[in-house]
Amino acid sequence: MSFKNIQGHAQSVGILKRYLEDSRLSGGYLFTGPEGIGKKLIALTLAKAVNCSKGKFDSCDTCVSCGKIDRLDHPDVHLIATGDDEIKIESIRQLQRDISFRPYEGKVKVFLIDNAHKLTADAANCLLKIIEEPPKQSLVILISDRPALLIRTIVSRCKTVKFSSMPRKSLEEVLSASHGLDAGMSHFLAYFSEGRLGSALRLKDTGIVQKKNECIDKFILSDSGLLERSSKQERQELKQKLGIIASWFRDMYLLKIGMPHQELINLDRKDELLRSMPKFTFGEIDDIMQSVTDAVLYLDQNINSKLVMQTIGAQLWKG
Ligand SMILES: [Zn+2]
Repeated sequence: MSFKNIQGHAQSVGILKRYLEDSRLSGGYLFTGPEGIGKKLIALTLAKAVNCSKGKFDSCDTCVSCGKIDRLDHPDVHLIATGDDEIKIESIRQLQRDISFRPYEGKVKVFLIDNAHKLTADAANCLLKIIEEPPKQSLVILISDRPALLIRTIVSRCKTVKFSSMPRKSLEEVLSASHGLDAGMSHFLAYFSEGRLGSALRLKDTGIVQKKNECIDKFILSDSGLLERSSKQERQELKQKLGIIASWFRDMYLLKIGMPHQELINLDRKDELLRSMPKFTFGEIDDIMQSVTDAVLYLDQNINSKLVMQTIGAQLWKG
């Protein structure tokens, strides 16, 4: 992916390209914005653009350097990603050692720190010293969807670039025009992912439409639901199921207040939505949405997921 192919972030990418063209890229950057909108992809594109041997102010995506960065196999480009775990001081000490050397084969050393809000206090303080006096030919890019959790001194030392999700209608068009998805799939993914291109692309090959229809048929519209097992591996799947339940009742709410049908996430199930709508009052929909929000928190706290789903089931299958 090169800058010219990135869709939906014209303003933020424009800022980065101007820094690049004016040779003003240096030190620390903070990329913020909702999860799943492509911040990491854009950070990697920037790493490619500054190291590319062919492209001018962009990555060519064909040279050896671009290829290595795409495979995360470039000696001058480092990604620190710990998922949901803390980023400990050892990782930042390693960064400190790596950044002090000149680039091995590229032009600029680039360090990406994903979920930067996971830095421990020690790690953040160590990083602060590095960003205060960044070595030449180096960039540190912090990526976070929760920048409020970062220490203020770090934020103030970085140039912040904000990214936002796309209007859903625009994402729907991008998915169908540039990713070859059919109309139904493009609509569902654009609305279910709330305009987040990265999330939509991650979901597209996971059989999500089939899964959501199964969840609607076997859980929401059934009168008993399948018993939910509680093994840890299924937690992510349960969270997705909760997302589907939330999307169903969000749709029902929109129908009740008379929003155009085109705004529905589950547009393909409009008839069933209209049929079950009279069974739920605004208050009941609100309670279900609250239970779904609580359930996601409970799952994060390892509370028995069977119990969580039964609680929601009791609200769905009343009477
Ligand atoms: Zn290249």
